[in-house]
Amino acid sequence: MIQEVVFPSGKVAYYFDCSAEEMLREELNAIFLTDENVFRLHEAFFEGKKVIRIAPGEAGKTLSNVELICEQLVALEATRETILVGVGGGVITDIAGFVAAVYMRGIKCTFVPTSLLAMVDAAIGGKNGVDMGLHKNMIGTVRQPQSIYFDIEFLQTLPDDEWKNGFAEVIKYACIFDHELFEKLEKRDATHFKTSRTALKGLVQRCADWKNKTVVNDELETGERKLLNFGHTAGHAIETLYHLPHGQAVAVGMMIAARIGEKKGVSKELVSTRLEKLLQRYGLPVATPYKTEDVMSLLRMDKKRSGDEIQYILMEEIGKGIIRRLSFATIEEVLRKYENND
Ligand code: ADP
Ligand code: ZN
Repeated sequence: MIQEVVFPSGKVAYYFDCSAEEMLREELNAIFLTDENVFRLHEAFFEGKKVIRIAPGEAGKTLSNVELICEQLVALEATRETILVGVGGGVITDIAGFVAAVYMRGIKCTFVPTSLLAMVDAAIGGKNGVDMGLHKNMIGTVRQPQSIYFDIEFLQTLPDDEWKNGFAEVIKYACIFDHELFEKLEKRDATHFKTSRTALKGLVQRCADWKNKTVVNDELETGERKLLNFGHTAGHAIETLYHLPHGQAVAVGMMIAARIGEKKGVSKELVSTRLEKLLQRYGLPVATPYKTEDVMSLLRMDKKRSGDEIQYILMEEIGKGIIRRLSFATIEEVLRKYENND
């Protein structure tokens, strides 16, 4: 099924429920970028193709890797006709998008997201780039790929922890946009989505649609795209400080945001109790030991800060996110209350 999505910076063809192998078989100008894990687990997919491989993990998102990849593109005689195909998780789609934006001042690119997180989040929206030391995504561009191929067969080899990372983002969409999805997730569990292909395809497409809708309206994140940061403000701080997997940190960040919303009287219902149960149902943590001072000092450096306030995403009710300016004092109070992991 093809869906064309028109973003301000370009249109993207979304191929839901497809076989990436079939779709790309005829693509003679393609050069593939992947990581060693995905390459090893899906060797047949890459057979006979020009492939550039990098080591797996966030550590690969560096400018020096961009240079290495560009050197390999030159060695493979890539021209402006070449299509760079990023096959992997969010790290690969981020770096492939960036390399394609700068190699020869821009070549075409296509993504085949292979992790749940990449399918529902990272591969969508045109943000790409690399890290600079501890500064995540410090260098990058906003540029759309020409197409994205959603092929859930890749998820068969996805490790458990990576499923959880993806579910954290799925739960995020449910919290800020989709009450019905929240209820569906409450009734089902991870095993259901891992074993029912229909359910999994539906879930991927539903979340991808939410992200598309948001980015189409606000590609440069001046307004509603900020809602997608739900759970990510404190979450990123905790992720950086305690080296937690992204989804786990976001899960804790969503709990913190839910409690701030309740404390500020923004939430109309007891959102944190239901969220807590749902996160646990999908194997995600709801609390982690942290030091309030350390989290606060990172929050004070956040891009969303202005003066003594920061824009924070809260839940007005389940399925409805809202952007609010909060004082650092409010955030600190809530962080301190839950610091002892209870
Ligand atoms: P993200 O969580 O943003 O997708 P990565 O690109 O780092 O981040 O992917 C997470 C991890 O999952 C990496 O170690 C990657 O090699 C691995 N991975 C991605 N897709 C698959 C897959 N289909 N099967 C097994 N491992 C995968
Ligand atoms: Zn995220």
